[in-house]
Amino acid sequence: MALCMPEPDAGVLARRGAIVAALRRIVPDGVIDDGDCLAPYECDGLTAYRQRPMVVVLPETTAQVAAVLAWCQANGVKVVPRGAGTSLSGGALPLVDGVLLGMARFNRILEVDYPERVAVVQPGVTNLAITRAVEDAGLYYAPDPSSQIACTIGGNVAENSGGVHCLKYGLTSNNVLGVELVTMEGEVLRLGGKGLEPQGLDLLGVVVGSEGLLGVVTEVTVRLLPKPETAKALLIGFSNVESAGQCVAEVIGAGIIPAGMEMMDREAVHAAEAFVGAGYPLDVEALLIVELDGPEAECVHLVGEVERIARANGAVSVRASRDDAERAVFWAGRKAAFPAAGRISPDYYCMDGTIPRRRLPEVLRRMKELSAQFGLGVINVFHAGDGNLHPLILYDANRDGELEQAEAFGAEILKLCVEVGGVLTGEHGVGVEKRDLMPTMFTPVDLAHQQRVKCAFDPSLLLNPGKVFPQLHRCAELGRMHVHGGQLPHPELPRI
Ligand SMILES: Cc1cc2nc3c(=O)[nH]c(=O)nc-3n(C[C@H](O)[C@H](O)[C@H](O)COP(=O)(O)OP(=O)(O)OC[C@H]3O[C@@H](n4cnc5c(N)ncnc54)[C@H](O)[C@@H]3O)c2cc1C
Repeated sequence: MALCMPEPDAGVLARRGAIVAALRRIVPDGVIDDGDCLAPYECDGLTAYRQRPMVVVLPETTAQVAAVLAWCQANGVKVVPRGAGTSLSGGALPLVDGVLLGMARFNRILEVDYPERVAVVQPGVTNLAITRAVEDAGLYYAPDPSSQIACTIGGNVAENSGGVHCLKYGLTSNNVLGVELVTMEGEVLRLGGKGLEPQGLDLLGVVVGSEGLLGVVTEVTVRLLPKPETAKALLIGFSNVESAGQCVAEVIGAGIIPAGMEMMDREAVHAAEAFVGAGYPLDVEALLIVELDGPEAECVHLVGEVERIARANGAVSVRASRDDAERAVFWAGRKAAFPAAGRISPDYYCMDGTIPRRRLPEVLRRMKELSAQFGLGVINVFHAGDGNLHPLILYDANRDGELEQAEAFGAEILKLCVEVGGVLTGEHGVGVEKRDLMPTMFTPVDLAHQQRVKCAFDPSLLLNPGKVFPQLHRCAELGRMHVHGGQLPHPELPRI
């Protein structure tokens, strides 16, 4: 589908050679401007949208990042930050007249402070590498996106990423204590630090989840947690989705916070089992994976409680992991659900929305109706404990019009999430994917105030423009703007 992005700046394109030369003076060994070598950067995980950047710059130090940003600011050149490029919402989609600032060379763990249980890392370090670095000391970094082997902590900060264990241990925002941030003007800020108590305004809270629109993260301080003494996972099968949903509600209602509580529908179970052989029951309509952790006695007690609640809600099968290896196999199927979908369909489109848990059966029923209406299959995996849905819409990009149908289907699912009292995104961010749906959730007043925050950090709107905000107002107007009755002033201004 044609995506409306900021109008390319003809003046910038005309100066490409001079821009590349200037950037090369700042990062002599880290500028890519050759056509074919730019190809790997033309999209992120949202592969439906592609655009080669004008130039890629791979800085290695904060000073280089600051110099690149300050130069681009002074010369009116747009910049798109990029980590590993696994974003599913197009957050790292390049611009034809923009610099793609790749943070891959920021790949060092700078310090592990064991007494304080924190690690200070560069943003290009992968999520899983943090745990790998500290696991011998019995510690780990809790947020665990399924992409954790590849995605970077800088990308996680920008997207406020989650994972199956975030129900109990929180999202990235709950596990990041501080960042070093470079603004578009090239100023270096430190927000938060090793301590738990933030000083001054909680700007760290503003920056986590800001999708690369406010500044470039050059250092991250994360909280490390002690590995739980025991962890057990339960595979619980149900003959209908309603009972599975009710079981989830009753587990939470009983005051139990599992380390993870995931649900897969019949189609997802079959796809994952064929791919991984996790031992999932194939005769169920819904499968819950519930992980309990903590001291052994507590864990054993909670396993019993969850099993009792599951059986009271008509569970047709309950199986507990015997050891850590089997627990890992239980999770392997769920974590491979996306690639498993890739084996049953030439293409799939992964959605990400959140609903109140109790509306799950209704949302699934309406999703089935939409599936019939659009003539496209859908399989469902959810972070059931926090109501975060990941419907995977199955389509074939080689068939005329199917991509557009998949996108239209996806938009209807997200509108449905908002309609039942949920939100447009759970953890994948807004990016370009959900940008134009933002008005279904936010009023013009809400959006204007959010953009004022953007203007405070990046008044020239040069950092990652075209993402998140459906209408980008010039900051000068916005500063004076008062939105009354939802009527935006200055309708004559160019909108994205
Ligand atoms: C198979 C698969 C499974 C996934 N599973 C999950 C999941 O379980 N949970 C989840 O939350 N997400 C998941 N994702 C989405 C994705 O992995 C996350 O959004 C991740 O945080 C992106 O990290 P990245 O390093 O790839 O960032 P990119 O894709 O490179 O960038 C993402 C955004 O962050 C910005 N950015 C990157 N680095 C910086 C920086 N240093 N400073 C400022 N801005 C920056 C970019 O501009 C962009 O807006 C999955 C993706 C895939 C492909």
